[in-house]
Amino acid sequence: MRWLQLTFLVLALAPSARAEDIVDVLRRSQQARLEALPGADPTSPRAALLQRSFATLLQAQPGLPPVDLRVITGPVIAETVHGHIVLANERLADLPEGERLFVLAHELGHVAQQHWLQMAMVYQKWVPGEVTPEQTDAVAGRLGRDASQLAHRQEFEADAFALRLLRRVGHDPAVAVDAFMHLGMTQDTATHPGTRKRVALVRATLAGAE
Ligand SMILES: [Zn+2]
Repeated sequence: MRWLQLTFLVLALAPSARAEDIVDVLRRSQQARLEALPGADPTSPRAALLQRSFATLLQAQPGLPPVDLRVITGPVIAETVHGHIVLANERLADLPEGERLFVLAHELGHVAQQHWLQMAMVYQKWVPGEVTPEQTDAVAGRLGRDASQLAHRQEFEADAFALRLLRRVGHDPAVAVDAFMHLGMTQDTATHPGTRKRVALVRATLAGAE
């Protein structure tokens, strides 16, 4: 599942006319991502169902920073951009309610735990000041490794958050495993641990909570 899609190709983005720091570049990359993902019809019954599920979660998790849901179509299942815009595919409306809530709660985990800010800080640590090709080329490998490690940890944290939130809205968190199965097995990527590792962590968390 390509949930948080933090592209590590961000450093290869064409430089803009004015001087930018790395957080500007990251923001630009997220904005490009947002604009590239096709929006679904917001008035459709599937979009309405997603909005209702999302509202259920927000009600059960007070204290979240302001967050928006945008319903999308296309191959991406769900991801969060700019730290506070959750993009969720209209196909999630076809899943059983508990599985849909798990996917949305996972994205809220990224928002609640300020994962965007943490990631921006890693980039800033390696690329302080103005972004230049000389500067970024020299650290790209080490930055990529740090960012990838953090991204994997954030996925596990967002899954754990989602399990807790599922319980709070009255669903058996074990449906998380069904959600992984329905959405298809994936291998490890730079940004995401593979399904096998995520399911193993969910099962260990559930076993520990009993
Ligand atoms: Zn995620």
